[in-house]
Amino acid sequence: MSGGRISRQKGRHPWDIIGSMIELRRATRVYGAARAVTALDGVDLTIPAGAMLAVMGPSGSGKSTLLNLLAGLDRPTSGQVLLDGVDLAALDEEARTRVRRDRIGIVFQFFNLLPSLSAAENVGLPLLLAGVPRARAESRARETLARVGLALRDDHLPDALSGGEKQRVAIARAVVTAPSLLLADEPTGNLDSATGEEILAVIRKIHVETGTTVVVVTHDDRIAAHCDGVIRLRDGRVEAAPVVAAASRR
Ligand code: ADP
Ligand code: MG
Repeated sequence: MSGGRISRQKGRHPWDIIGSMIELRRATRVYGAARAVTALDGVDLTIPAGAMLAVMGPSGSGKSTLLNLLAGLDRPTSGQVLLDGVDLAALDEEARTRVRRDRIGIVFQFFNLLPSLSAAENVGLPLLLAGVPRARAESRARETLARVGLALRDDHLPDALSGGEKQRVAIARAVVTAPSLLLADEPTGNLDSATGEEILAVIRKIHVETGTTVVVVTHDDRIAAHCDGVIRLRDGRVEAAPVVAAASRR
């Protein structure tokens, strides 16, 4: 099924993609059957390429559900999730996995690092899975750890790192493949507020340096203030979203 393949063209950078990179059309996600919960309720949304947006809303308003749909980790019950015009939900599992691997980086609240691998090995893993030779994967992992400010902790196991350091490793792992979309679900939710701001600054730096589109779920107004706009959810609906002009950052 090569027709569904999305791959970045050689020589193109993510920020060359003009127009609305991600669109949700009437996206609905219902959990369960007997006592069904409508976590997202007919959401229409456009996220322009090159933007850095926050998603805010009360607990249970559908933020993680939205992020999981954008990540291709989950599919809408009805409606569409379009990535550069391709419906993520219509791809088979294998093609969706490939899009996730090649195009999307994800950061979670609780880091999700593999405890038996060093920082550098955790970061290099997505490259190994994508078929990059070991030596190249390792050097790129170390370069990426340096970019997030962790060069001297390369060989530490996650347990030997602070929360903020673990999250830097997780960010490095998410961006080592140069994804065009970086998603983060409450990446500062498990950190004190000063460390949380540092982590957001790292995400912002990656965004500015690479042009990667960023969507970050947060409860923190100060963190949202570092973003270009805020998508506000309530009861599975979009209460407010930035007005989108066709985006190009440069
Ligand atoms: P948020 O991230 O904003 O806190 P979620 O997207 O996690 O919200 O959840 C939205 C709603 O969907 C909530 O009512 C939640 O209980 C429900 N929900 C989320 N995941 C599941 C699931 N796997 N099974 C059943 N209900 C779920
Ligand atoms: Mg959540």
